Amino acid sequence: MRRILITGGAGFVGSNLCARLVQEKENHVICLDNLFTGRMVNIEPLMGLPNFEFIKHDVQEYIDIPCDQIYNAACPASPPAYQQSPTNTTKTCVLGILNMLELAKKYDATLMQFSTSEVYGDPEVHPQVESYRGCVNPIGIRSCYDEGKRCAEALCFDYHREFGTKIKVIRIFNTYGPNMDPQDGRVVSNFIIQALKGEDLTIYGDGSQTRSFQYIDDLIEGIYRMMNTSRGDFLGPVNLGNHGEFTMLELAEKVLAMTGSKSKIVFRPLPGDDPTRRQANTDVAYRELQGWTSKITLEEGLKKTIPYFENYCR
Ligand code: NAD
Ligand code: UDP
Repeated sequence: MRRILITGGAGFVGSNLCARLVQEKENHVICLDNLFTGRMVNIEPLMGLPNFEFIKHDVQEYIDIPCDQIYNAACPASPPAYQQSPTNTTKTCVLGILNMLELAKKYDATLMQFSTSEVYGDPEVHPQVESYRGCVNPIGIRSCYDEGKRCAEALCFDYHREFGTKIKVIRIFNTYGPNMDPQDGRVVSNFIIQALKGEDLTIYGDGSQTRSFQYIDDLIEGIYRMMNTSRGDFLGPVNLGNHGEFTMLELAEKVLAMTGSKSKIVFRPLPGDDPTRRQANTDVAYRELQGWTSKITLEEGLKKTIPYFENYCR
């Protein structure tokens, strides 16, 4: 059996990854999570499976688990969640990756770090390419996450250079889909729930800021290819994101049209350091991951996601 450790496995991305990997019978999937933002409901369908286990644990503390592969996804990802206790966020990023790197080093496992487009900060280069070094405010309200993730990337490459640890680094752009926490405050979940409940859709700022939104299935395929089929000497970082670039106003209008909601759009203050523009350049992923692209359009992805939230609102 191949022993696979997924930290943050009860969260949105982690639980979708667990579900994908348990399908291969040669995999034994160990989901490790302290349930800070993760939810048991996300992994309930997997709990009885013989090749799945759950361990409640905080990655800030070392744990010895023999394994062949590690996916380090543990970290709150929505701005309200990671800003709730910024010091906890930085510690999760930094102590978490240190503990996982030690584990990878001990068992000669391959470690994949779940990094983020936030390492580019409020980017001056558009769309963002991996070689761009970013424009991050080191003392702002997003820095606990942005700098925590940047430090985690640095540690991965230092462990690789110093100890030969096997690492892979992915930079994930805004992703959405089933198993998102309906209350975690990210824009796609907020807008869909507000529309379904007939509440006002809250746009922060004037709604001209942009993001590229990726449906979860495309991300999981990219993660799978990066771990299993990319060249051993391809470490990343690699962007995994969609090309479609939308303003928040366009997103709100799309959600209203697709839910048939009569909700109104209202404008609220823009939080500090909110990136103005974001769009993934995925040429590296296409080249290194056998032609991978994020194929599912925003409209197709929302069509699959709205029923998930309808279920929640019922
Ligand atoms: P999420 O909040 O749904 O999941 C994060 C999981 O990590 C949760 O289950 C949470 O309980 C767990 N966790 C947090 N702190 C922990 C700790 N100290 N010890 C153990 N577990 C802990 O977020 P997500 O969207 O699933 O994000 C997963 C990963 O992908 C994160 O590392 C995030 O930074 C990265 N990412 C996600 C996106 C996205 O759009 N979803 C974008 C960029 C990067
Ligand atoms: N946003 C918004 N209304 C909301 C939630 C978020 O307008 O109810 C905006 C937010 O200010 C940001 C964008 O939507 O400009 C994406 O926010 P999200 O929290 O989903 O992700 P991130 O900012 O980390 O890209």
